[in-house]
Amino acid sequence: MIPGPIEFDPSVMEKMGQPTLSHVAPAFIESFGRAIEMMRDVWLAPSGQPFIVAGSGTLAMDMVGANLIEAGDNVLVVSTGYFGERYAELLTRYGANVTFLQSEVGDVVPYETVEAELASGNYKLMTFTHVDTSTGVLVDAKKMGELAQKYNVLSILDGVCSVAGEEIRQEEWGIDVVVTASQKAVGVPPGLALLVASEKAMNVWKSRKTPVGNYYCDWSLWLPIMQAYEARNPSYFATPPVNLIQALERSLELILAEGMDARFVRHKRLAQKFRYEMRSLGLSFIPTSEEITANTLSATYYPEGVNGGEFLGKVGENGVVIAGGLLPSHKTQYFRVGHMGIVSDEHIDRTVGAIKNALK
Ligand code: PMP
Repeated sequence: MIPGPIEFDPSVMEKMGQPTLSHVAPAFIESFGRAIEMMRDVWLAPSGQPFIVAGSGTLAMDMVGANLIEAGDNVLVVSTGYFGERYAELLTRYGANVTFLQSEVGDVVPYETVEAELASGNYKLMTFTHVDTSTGVLVDAKKMGELAQKYNVLSILDGVCSVAGEEIRQEEWGIDVVVTASQKAVGVPPGLALLVASEKAMNVWKSRKTPVGNYYCDWSLWLPIMQAYEARNPSYFATPPVNLIQALERSLELILAEGMDARFVRHKRLAQKFRYEMRSLGLSFIPTSEEITANTLSATYYPEGVNGGEFLGKVGENGVVIAGGLLPSHKTQYFRVGHMGIVSDEHIDRTVGAIKNALK
């Protein structure tokens, strides 16, 4: 029950153990093509361009930096914790002139502050972390998309801890790039960097004045590969992780069989159930209000006098693995429970039971 890697469906794991096909075998080409098509339905981005690349979520973030940033571009990074800091550092490496707005711990950056900054600066691009996995804070992605459109700025959503769990309507909300990784709510073991880019983002990339300075990330090498697989043609740039992509195809099938709306509702219901139980034990959370609290994980303060390491150990003895704190300033004060992907009432009940036993 950590916030990724999560538990995976047995039928997804079966794909991981199958004999590995050639990357140009017709059956694999079909799987890759279907995975690309289904990503548009999961991201709710019918005209977006999906990319599936071997790597982790950080690589998906890096692809944005490599392809959309040119030295001297003004970028606004709106941060709610650890992963916002990572994005600022990453974009700086590509020569971006980064303005960094950091929220108070457990809060979001006020939308008026974001708007004032967008209005005052000549920004090309804005990033925000939809759910910061260090704090469990949820940013209003719809509102951020609206602001980005109003000021004609490319919007980048770090959805590593939100895609396929939190509501995201990429195209309707006008978000240009939504990046994630396989190991969280997408429901596939670690190893895939996933993103969908809008037509606007692809056009900004196409009209670059300088070449992309990162070889492995360069969309000019990956776009023909995505297009070939989608057209069910063999192609090669760098060997794809065959089993992971077949596992992705299976997981996306399961996600779409549930339906995106039903999935968003289930995540919300189970998150509320978990937090109801924590509250009834007298515990409180890092996010300062329910409105800005994630549905994919909860960041809960330890009760006074409880030693974190000892508590996590005792929860483990009760058969449930949860995570400690991540935010350096608060690391020893809270624990994190992921509730995403195939999470069910039974997972929540057993986790709550283990936490209660550990506290006793
Ligand atoms: N962004 C967020 C919000 C994350 O939670 C994570 C991983 N926990 C990352 C980015 C980085 O992803 P990865 O570890 O897969 O590189």
